[in-house]
Amino acid sequence: MEMKPHVSGYERGRNIVRVLVVLAIILGVAALMFTQENSREQMLLVIGSAACVVGVIVVARLLCVCPHCGKRIVSGVLVLRVCPKCRHDLLTGAKVKKQR
Ligand SMILES: [Zn+2]
Repeated sequence: MEMKPHVSGYERGRNIVRVLVVLAIILGVAALMFTQENSREQMLLVIGSAACVVGVIVVARLLCVCPHCGKRIVSGVLVLRVCPKCRHDLLTGAKVKKQR
């Protein structure tokens, strides 16, 4: 099992977060739409959805750090491209030129 060397931990973390967010939404919607209220199936789906949310938080805390200054990016992990603290690119760690 080989890891591509140019894929940063941040990018890996973000991909995992993305998958978990989608899963949490799917499970949450399924619990609301396709199960009977207060049924065992609904409980399981809700628990699964909550587990995905917890997973998002854990993965974001562990992997979603700026490669340059080490700042944790927890909120906005899916939209931010530049570190709000040091203004380096979160994927490459390169310095970002002045914004327009
Ligand atoms: Zn930074």
